[in-house]
Formats: sequence, structure tokens, C-alpha cells
Amino acid sequence: MGGRTREELRHMRAAGRVVAEMHDEIRAAIRPGVTTGELDRIGREVIARRGARSNFLGYHGFPAVICASPNDVIVHGIPGPTVLEEGDIISIDCGAVVEGWHGDAAFTAPVGEVSAEASELIEVTRRSLMAGIAAMVPGARMGDVGHAVQSVVEAAGYSVVHEYVGHGIGRAMHEKPEVPNLGRPGKGIKLQRGMTLAIEPMVNVGAPDTFLTEDGWTVVTADRLLSAHWEHTVAITDDGPEILTLP
Ligand code: MG
Ligand code: MG
Repeated sequence: MGGRTREELRHMRAAGRVVAEMHDEIRAAIRPGVTTGELDRIGREVIARRGARSNFLGYHGFPAVICASPNDVIVHGIPGPTVLEEGDIISIDCGAVVEGWHGDAAFTAPVGEVSAEASELIEVTRRSLMAGIAAMVPGARMGDVGHAVQSVVEAAGYSVVHEYVGHGIGRAMHEKPEVPNLGRPGKGIKLQRGMTLAIEPMVNVGAPDTFLTEDGWTVVTADRLLSAHWEHTVAITDDGPEILTLP
């Protein structure tokens, strides 16, 4: 991937704002009794209102504009009749395309009152994302980013999922390079100004092992313990990392 021009970054910010707006409206609707299908409908409304396009809908046949991944689902849960209940956690991942440029971001939220463990998992995963973003400066190595994420997660006693990683993003949702959530400082490719990357730690309370269920999409923890997922699309600039998926 080449460095993004000022104009290209402007389009990516616009796509990122649509994603942030989807997040805000979906987050506001998360409560006991709501279905994940209803959350998808809210996402569709935002995309239509903004004249954007979904990069999730139809992706290798994916049937929705959001991934909705409750509790032990790590990623790629399909929204539908599943009713969220008090004490659940729910990861929402979605994206949007504006003028051919992509945004992609995810968050995990509590449903009503949740356990202290669930609440801590959500917060540690969010902090690991922000630590990874802070490491995304020109001249740093990809291993520095993964190491920053991994350090926050492992200090809390949780585990980082290995099999699913972040990615370059721009004219396509998934571009080179991969952005792993673990790494060794000073190793990997050098980060350069103008790169745009989606960084997305997936964090398990228990073991890192994953299991792909029979629908071919839904990835769950092998030990069926809780998992959380946070993601932003970030541009590497001379002034440091710029989060593009913000309101
Ligand atoms: Mg995503
Ligand atoms: Mg992504």
C-alpha cells in the first residue's frame, strides 16, 4: 500500500465518521431485550442516511452490515433473532465506504449490568487497542504495535487471539499488511507516514484458542469463556497516529 494523500485521507475520515455514527446509534440501542437483528437494522439506516455503502454486506456472502458477537463469540457473529440479555457483553464490528474509501471499527459493550470480570475484560481490551494505536508512529515497527497490545492484555491475565489480526485498509477493507495483536519490539515492517491500518485486538478471558462454528462465520472461544473486540482505523502521520473512525 502507498502513502495516502491528503485528499484520500479526507475521504477515509468521512467513511470513518459514518462508522462512528453507526457505533453511536447502535450503542444507544443496546439493552436487555433487543435483538442483534435490530442493531443491524439501525446500522443499515445510518448507512442509507449518509449515502454510504456497507463493506460488510455481501463480503464473501456475509448477510448483514454489522457483525454482532455476544459473550463467547470472538468475531464474525451474524445478527438475527438472538435476544440480548442482562449481563451479556456484545461486540459490534462494522464498516462503511465513502467515495470508494473504507472505514472499519469495533467496540464491545455491556448489556445492562454485567459482572466485574466482563466489565474488566471490555476495559482491558479497549486499553490494549489504545496502547497499540499509541505505538503507530512513523519509524516504529509492526512488532512494536503488537507488543504494546499484548503487554496490556497479558498484564491483566487475559490472552490475545492469534488467528485473527488487523489489516491495511484504504480502497479495500482488507489490504496488506497484517496487523498482529502480538509481536516483538523492533521486529516487522517499518511504519511510514500515510499508511492506514485497522488495528483490532480480540481478547479472551481464558485460552487464546478459537473455534469456527458450523455456520462458517461465527468464531467462538474454544473454552467458551468471554471474549471482547475493539478496533479503529488509524492513519500514521508525522504528528502521530490519527484515529479516522471517530465522530
Ligand atoms: Mg472490523
Ligand atoms: Mg477490521
